[in-house]
Amino acid sequence: MPSPAPRAGYYGPFGGRFVPETLVPALDELTHACETIVRSDAFQREWRGLLDSYVGRPTPLGEAKRLARALDPEGRSLDRLWLKREDLCHTGSHKINNALGQVLLAKKMGKTRVIAETGAGQHGVATATACALFDLPCEVYMGAEDVRRQAPNVGRMALLGARVVPVESGSRTLKDAMNEALRDWVTQVQTTHYCIGSAAGPYPYPELVASFQSVIGEEARAQVLAAQGSLPDAAMACVGGGSNAIGLFRGFMKDDGVALVGVEAAGEGVNTERHAATLTMGRVGVLHGSKSYVLFDEGGQIMEAHSISAGLDYPGVGPEHSFLKDSGRARYLSATDDEALAAVSLVARTEGILVALETAHAFARIGDVARQIAAAQGRPASIVFGLSGRGDKDLSTLLARILPDGSLGAASRGAS
Ligand SMILES: *Cc1c(COP(=O)(O)O)cnc(C)c1O
Repeated sequence: MPSPAPRAGYYGPFGGRFVPETLVPALDELTHACETIVRSDAFQREWRGLLDSYVGRPTPLGEAKRLARALDPEGRSLDRLWLKREDLCHTGSHKINNALGQVLLAKKMGKTRVIAETGAGQHGVATATACALFDLPCEVYMGAEDVRRQAPNVGRMALLGARVVPVESGSRTLKDAMNEALRDWVTQVQTTHYCIGSAAGPYPYPELVASFQSVIGEEARAQVLAAQGSLPDAAMACVGGGSNAIGLFRGFMKDDGVALVGVEAAGEGVNTERHAATLTMGRVGVLHGSKSYVLFDEGGQIMEAHSISAGLDYPGVGPEHSFLKDSGRARYLSATDDEALAAVSLVARTEGILVALETAHAFARIGDVARQIAAAQGRPASIVFGLSGRGDKDLSTLLARILPDGSLGAASRGAS
């Protein structure tokens, strides 16, 4: 039998739209807007102009020589390590690429109100920023637990004129915030644009968000070719919902020689009940409107994920990553809370960059990935690394774990 044609809105068996009927017209309207408005030269000119003049793109691709030597003192496995510096974007992470795109689109679609969900607060801040710039009212749903651990970003959103709505249900984190945002959208769907912050949710969101974040991979590919004269052996990034990783991966998707590696949050360990390693430990299911890998508990309910980083603390993942995992095009590893903390110190001390806890998870696996690649190809690897964001927002969590020698450890667990 011939294999069926790819279904619109799906990545292999993953993706689709599993939503209440009341949302279908809005998703149709958004799909149409993606095909007409977003693709138009006028929209692309305006959005890319803002990326240059307001976000500060292109972001640099810098070589991390001291970190590379710290990870591999003899230079046997890691040759060159390139950091794609999304932490230098206005508002401190890659989230603004997507938020500016979606809020500009909402304006063009005639929407008069924007809502968003946020975990670490980075997407909430990015959306509030874009709404201030485009003069649209903004409401951000945020789990009450995240409101507590990401206080600086809550203050930022308020200063930017957004209303932050704390969500008290479930684990009071990102999953619950997204539930509430979807509920809000159902009731005011005609006037409201729901600005989803990751490459997840019902179609067309995974595609819309990935298309905006692809600017990361487009730039990184051209920059690494200019800098070392060849493609890297691997592109690596952390995976929460998966938007910064898919943005980087798309730049190298057709380059078969470039391994794509995502790193999830293993929390207190993937064999405990406190982690967020969806692709590593999940099963196929439906969460927030799309079919993908999902973490379930023993009773078959959606698991309450755990990660020290609020931005990775999510029991789902974007559907394209599920497809890339099953097809073998990408690989997914995980790193624990403690490994992420250790990586924050190491990167700070060797490169002078205080990275977000989310990003630190992927830093924790660079050495392993380099060793595997070097063993397979018989020469040291070059790696392009998606440095998704800066760590200022995590300072209170980091301070609770800081040891007398300035390194970060598990010693004061429970204090955060
Ligand atoms: C939100 C966030 C992430 C996780 O989201 P993705 O959609 O997986 O990229 C990673 N890093 C930083 C700095 C973030 O703010």
